[in-house]
Order: sequence, then structure tokens, then C-alpha cells
Amino acid sequence: MEALKNRYRREAVEVHCPKHKITRVIYLPEEEMPVCPVCKKKMIIKEVLTEGKY
Ligand SMILES: [Zn+2]
Repeated sequence: MEALKNRYRREAVEVHCPKHKITRVIYLPEEEMPVCPVCKKKMIIKEVLTEGKY
């Protein structure tokens, strides 16, 4: 059911690597936790932005 899928509420999450000051915004649960391009470690959730617009 495409309609239901589109209505699913996504969580916008700000993730970062505290060591390298790299910040990215991803959408959960559809995106995976990114890795820092410098140290190749999983980035950490910094803040949940939660946009209900999509
Ligand atoms: Zn890093």
C-alpha cells in the first residue's frame, strides 16, 4: 500500500562525529546510520529534529 507508506512518519535525526565535527541529517528508519568519512566509525545521534511535514 503506497499511500500508507507515504504517510509513515519519518524522524529527521542529526548525527555527528564529535571528533571531526562532521554533521549530517538522516531520516529514520529508512536510512542507515552513516559512518564518518574520516575515521570510518558510526556517527552518533546528536539531536532528533522530527519533521512531521513528510
Ligand atoms: Zn570521525
